[in-house]
Amino acid sequence: MIEEGTVTERSIVMEGGDRRPFGKILAVGRNYSDHVAEMRAPSEPVLFMKPPTAVRLPGEPVELPRDRGIVHHEIELVVWLRAGGSHLTETEAGLLVGAYGLGLDLTLREVQARAKEKGQPWTLAKGFDGSFPLSPFLPEARVGDPAGLRFHLDVNGDRRQEGRAADMLLPVASLLAYISTWITLEAGDLISTGTPAGVGPIEPGDIAVMTLEEHLEQRVVFC
Ligand code: MG
Repeated sequence: MIEEGTVTERSIVMEGGDRRPFGKILAVGRNYSDHVAEMRAPSEPVLFMKPPTAVRLPGEPVELPRDRGIVHHEIELVVWLRAGGSHLTETEAGLLVGAYGLGLDLTLREVQARAKEKGQPWTLAKGFDGSFPLSPFLPEARVGDPAGLRFHLDVNGDRRQEGRAADMLLPVASLLAYISTWITLEAGDLISTGTPAGVGPIEPGDIAVMTLEEHLEQRVVFC
């Protein structure tokens, strides 16, 4: 179906309801050693992008793709940038973060496996509509050092994943500095920082709860 219109302005939701515009969405694979082990992956980070149409805001139901195989949940700490730059030092890169939230990097695992076999990009496996539900975001000043952040994911009441930002192979500032040597970062960009172990299938009817411990929790309903 054709949808006429002007360019869509897209935004994330801050805790409390304010909105902030967002730009490109970059994500990193293999940023926690326990998930690297479970996916039998090499230890260097892999970067990929999700399109803006992947985003679902807090409270929006997520319609899963049908007949395209298993969808896995990957809970991730997501940063929203208040400023940008290129070829940044880690110190500079650490100053870019304006807000922290959680996201689910939903992945069509069988589609991704076929892409890996053929050496093809992960775009369809990682970028389908609704593949990036988000929590509200907290201003950076409320969080301070992100290394102290802990988060977890429950699905239908069962704990599936637990993560500590301190366990990232590339901490947030290092990850941003690394990306900035390849792609210019801009104010509004969203960076999803990789998932800890425990990824698993999600199905229509499931209810997930993403929790950024001591800060916020967000329910995600799948249909
Ligand atoms: Mg991921």
